[in-house]
Amino acid sequence: MTTPGAHMAWRVTSNGYGSWQGQAAVTAGGRRAAGSASTVLPALLEAAGQEVPAAVALRRELHASPELGGHETRTASRVAAALGDPDAPSVTTGRLVRIGAASGPSVAIRAELDALPLTEQTPVGWASQNGASHSCGHDVHLAALSAVGRAVRRTGGPLPLVAVLQPREESHPSGAQDLVGSRQLEAQDVRAMIGVHVHPHVPRGQVSVGPGPVNAAYDEVTITVRGRGGHAAYPHVTRDPVIAAAHVIVALQHLISRRTDPMHPAVLTIGTVHAGTAANVVPGQAVLTGSLRTFEPTDRESLRSAVSATAGATAEAYECTAQATFTQGEPVLDNDPSLAAAAAACLAQAGFGVVDSLRSCGSDDFAYYCVRYPSLMMFAGVGQPGTPDAPGLHHPAFLPREEAVEDVARVMLAGYVAACSVVLPGASVPAPPAPR
Ligand SMILES: [Zn+2]
Repeated sequence: MTTPGAHMAWRVTSNGYGSWQGQAAVTAGGRRAAGSASTVLPALLEAAGQEVPAAVALRRELHASPELGGHETRTASRVAAALGDPDAPSVTTGRLVRIGAASGPSVAIRAELDALPLTEQTPVGWASQNGASHSCGHDVHLAALSAVGRAVRRTGGPLPLVAVLQPREESHPSGAQDLVGSRQLEAQDVRAMIGVHVHPHVPRGQVSVGPGPVNAAYDEVTITVRGRGGHAAYPHVTRDPVIAAAHVIVALQHLISRRTDPMHPAVLTIGTVHAGTAANVVPGQAVLTGSLRTFEPTDRESLRSAVSATAGATAEAYECTAQATFTQGEPVLDNDPSLAAAAAACLAQAGFGVVDSLRSCGSDDFAYYCVRYPSLMMFAGVGQPGTPDAPGLHHPAFLPREEAVEDVARVMLAGYVAACSVVLPGASVPAPPAPR
């Protein structure tokens, strides 16, 4: 596939399909894609459809033998092979598979390689038995991307496609940080980054694609409360850090409800409490850990200092001390508005209901790409009607149905074609569909 020159421009036309304005695109094999140029999205959807049986088989294979973050070498090799490039370059335990011209501007699609440390609880014959589980749907994303890459390799596309097989989405430090700013990814000349995540809160057939922030910034906090330990029968000569820590937990609750603008989403959760070794001993310290999620940079800053100040002052009332330390996590996941609008139009043409309802205080390290590239995360519906209590993401019984592989592939292709239309000079996009 060649990269178009200045004399050519890719346009998404009013029917949502694309067409080359100028001369025809040329595929990887040097064949002209002329004739089909006005139907690139439908042609790619059709080609991806033919790859679905192999992709579903790959999904089962990946699902049956998942790997945890930092150990995804086998998964990465398998998916790179499925994408037709077993020797694709590595970035830590991830891989980059480029399809199309070896240089020039490209559009990238990210899929995550890692599973969670959960014992799977699903009835399928291809359930994992190794103590790790694809309970976040990453197996579906990888399989879908294999179908997308194979379709683009066969049919050609407006721009080269870079499949980013990313390690360690679920653990820290994030695998996206391995890639963003890496020599290998910088060499790909990425002009737009696309991500798709299955989501059970969105009904099947719908895709949530919203402009601007859709996921929160994430920080972890550790609060160490120190007192003076001793015999539980003589509390008056101790300074009990357990009592102080309990009051710290309660005092922190007012930071969101009373100190944060109610129009600004924010969450502070204390998730662990550790103190003591015996029922008849006042321990010397108590340790709390929690997570802080914010959308506004000013809230992120002010809440961090308010957590420190509130913990310290509260502990002091009990003649203890408290020190808060923060580990900075993902930034806000901020969708590029032009990509979101173009993708909404392409998704509608691909037959999806388009909504922008899913914004949450969840976080995803896809946010690191948003800082470096115009980026778009879409949430593909896998929710089934009448099953409000179905297991959700990160539940050991979460298992998207097999049709999710084709759904996600179609969403990825819509994102890819939309991104091409935004990236290429002179591109125009159709009006977004009417809101539902
Ligand atoms: Zn995930």
